[in-house]
Amino acid sequence: MRSYSLIAPAKINLYLEILGDRPDGYHELAMILQSIELADEIEVRAIGTDTILIHCDHPQVPSDSSNLAYRAVELMAKEFPDVFAKFGGVEITIKKHIPVAAGLAGGSANAAAVLVAVDMMWQLGLTQPELQDLAAQLGSDVPFCLAGGTALATGRGEQLNALSALDSLYVVLAKDRNLMISTPWAYKAYRSEFGHTYVRDTQSLESRAHRVHSGPMVNAIRHKDGSQIGRLLHNDLEKVVLPTTPQVAQLREAFQSSGALGTMMSGSGPTVFALCESEAHAQQVQQKVRGMIANPNVDFWVTRFSNRGIQVVSSVS
Ligand code: ATP
Repeated sequence: MRSYSLIAPAKINLYLEILGDRPDGYHELAMILQSIELADEIEVRAIGTDTILIHCDHPQVPSDSSNLAYRAVELMAKEFPDVFAKFGGVEITIKKHIPVAAGLAGGSANAAAVLVAVDMMWQLGLTQPELQDLAAQLGSDVPFCLAGGTALATGRGEQLNALSALDSLYVVLAKDRNLMISTPWAYKAYRSEFGHTYVRDTQSLESRAHRVHSGPMVNAIRHKDGSQIGRLLHNDLEKVVLPTTPQVAQLREAFQSSGALGTMMSGSGPTVFALCESEAHAQQVQQKVRGMIANPNVDFWVTRFSNRGIQVVSSVS
């Protein structure tokens, strides 16, 4: 029976600006997304029956049809029913290294890996745009997780513009293991407080997104200027999360005085990250912040930028 092993990297947001509302209920965003080397390991195996089985070693990850990896197979089965009938179901094993509900797109990365594996397993030969299209149906972050690297994402986050690769920076991540923030809650809270600032017409939306594309952060990325990137980190969702979640605010403050190039919350949090110029610098920043934070529930990770999305490590037929 065929099986595939894949690596599914997490992402951080170097920039997240909320521009306005969309008719579909999502927000219009302008984000700069960055893959990091912290990644889940995914194994996808063909099984003779027409079932979808999920195994995961993390207690907060569901193994039923609410798992995004399950939904990725379901979508492929719906799109290609004859091929599904011919090849049968799949068994997916997820080894979680990406913290769950952390603003690091762990579930989206798993779904992207499953799309790649099923495409190979069912010998579909889908093009990158076709895979991206399926990815967008599963979630706003899934297309980026598939492609990886550094990208400007607009629309609800699914329209990607690749930016020049940035793979030399290091990242320290910190997260309270007992804390989870619901992404829908964060966006709803932002809408109720800042909805009056939203851009309403298409032309203004386009010009705001264009402003980000031709703005200082993209310029700093083009010049691989780590100090400038650190200074320009931005996330609108901090405006609603920091005042209501003291654990996140404390981590942000500690990283601020740690000598890092810059610090920011990723996505809707609660993970906070700090940018560093080398592994030694990252270890130093981590030690400093560990010393400043009394909360024993905070976990730390040191990782680095990656210029890759989903990677196939091995395939066995
Ligand atoms: P994003 O940054 O895209 O908002 P996130 O990192 O905040 O995502 P995830 O780790 O993807 O969040 O998990 C969000 C929720 O989805 C969790 O409550 C989890 O139970 C559920 N979930 C479903 N499938 C998965 C999966 N494969 N891996 C992790 N969580 C999953």
